[in-house]
Amino acid sequence: MDISVVIPIYNEAANILPLTQRLRVVMQQMSLSFELIFINDGSTDSSLPMIKTLASTDTSIKYIDLSRNFGHQIAVMAGLDEALGKAVVIIDADLQDPPELIVDLYQKMQEGYEVVYAKRKKRKGESAAKRWTAHLFYRLLSSITPIDIPLDTGDFRIIDHKVVKILRQMPEQNKYLRGQIAWIGFKQSFVSYERQHRNAGDTGYTFSKMLGLAWDAVTGFSNFPLKVVSYFGFFTSIIAFLVMLFTLYSRLVLKAATVSGWASLMISVLFIGGVQMIAIGIIGEYLSRVNQNVRNRPLYIVKDSNIEEKP
Ligand code: UDP
Ligand code: MG
Repeated sequence: MDISVVIPIYNEAANILPLTQRLRVVMQQMSLSFELIFINDGSTDSSLPMIKTLASTDTSIKYIDLSRNFGHQIAVMAGLDEALGKAVVIIDADLQDPPELIVDLYQKMQEGYEVVYAKRKKRKGESAAKRWTAHLFYRLLSSITPIDIPLDTGDFRIIDHKVVKILRQMPEQNKYLRGQIAWIGFKQSFVSYERQHRNAGDTGYTFSKMLGLAWDAVTGFSNFPLKVVSYFGFFTSIIAFLVMLFTLYSRLVLKAATVSGWASLMISVLFIGGVQMIAIGIIGEYLSRVNQNVRNRPLYIVKDSNIEEKP
C-alpha cells in the first residue's frame, strides 16, 4: 500500500461523494495503490450509510464508526491507528483542503522528507474573527513553546509511516497532532496553498471545541502560563513588601493614628483575589489534563468497522 488517506467525518454527507471522486482521480493520476479511511465521528446525518454504500462496492474504502463524537483530533488518530500505507495523508472532508495538492505533497516527500505539511497562504470563506484568532493563536503558541510548531498550518499533510508508528506510541488524551508531529522531528518541509471555502454543510468546530484545542496545545507544549503565575506571585510579593514598609513607617515614625485608605484597600483585595482565581484556573487546566490521562481510558471506542481486527 503506497498511500492511506485519513478522513475524519462529522456531518459531511454532502461532501463525501465529491471528495471521494476527487481523491480517486488524484490517486489514479499518481498511479499509486491507496486506501481511503473514513472515520465517522458520531455524525447525526446520513454520512455513515453513505460511506458504507461506497465501501460495499470499493475495497479501497475503509470505514471506522466511532461510538460517539470524540472530536476531530481523536478521529484522525483512530484513522492513523489503522493506516497501512507507506505514506499517510490527513485531510478534511469538507474540501477546504484541495485533494489535488496531495500530488505536490507526495512529490515533495520524495525529495527525502518524512513530513510535508500544507501551509495556508490564504483562508477563504472563513470569518474575519476566525482568521484573526487563528493567526494570533499560532503566533502566541510559537512564542511560548520550545518546539518549532509551524505557523498557519492545520492537519492537512503527508507523513511517513515511521512517524505514524511513533504517534501510535504517544498515548496522551489531549491530542494536538500538529504539535506532536513537530515534536517527533525528522526532516519536515511544507507546500503552500490557498485554503478553499467549505464545499457544503457547516463547520463542526464550535467555539468551545476550538478553545479546547487551543488549551490542549498550550498545556501540551508549554509551561509558560505556569511560569507567568509564579513571576506574578513574586512581583505582587515585592509590591506587598514595599506597601508594608510604608504602612509601618506611617504608623511608627510619622505616628499617624489612623491611616486612611479604604479605596486602596478595596482595590488591592479585589486585585489579589482576581489574580489568585486566574492562577488557580491556569493550574486547574494543567491538573485536569493530568487527571484525564491517569484515568487511562481508551482514546476512542469503535462501534463498527470493515477493517479486520489485528490479531
Ligand atoms: N470533524 C470531526 N469531529 C468533530 C468536528 C469536525 O471529525 O467533532 C471533522 C470534519 O468532518 C472535517 C474536519 O474534522 O472533516 C475539520 O472540521 P471543520 O471543517 O468543521 O473545521 P474548520 O475547517 O471549520 O476548522
Ligand atoms: Mg473545514
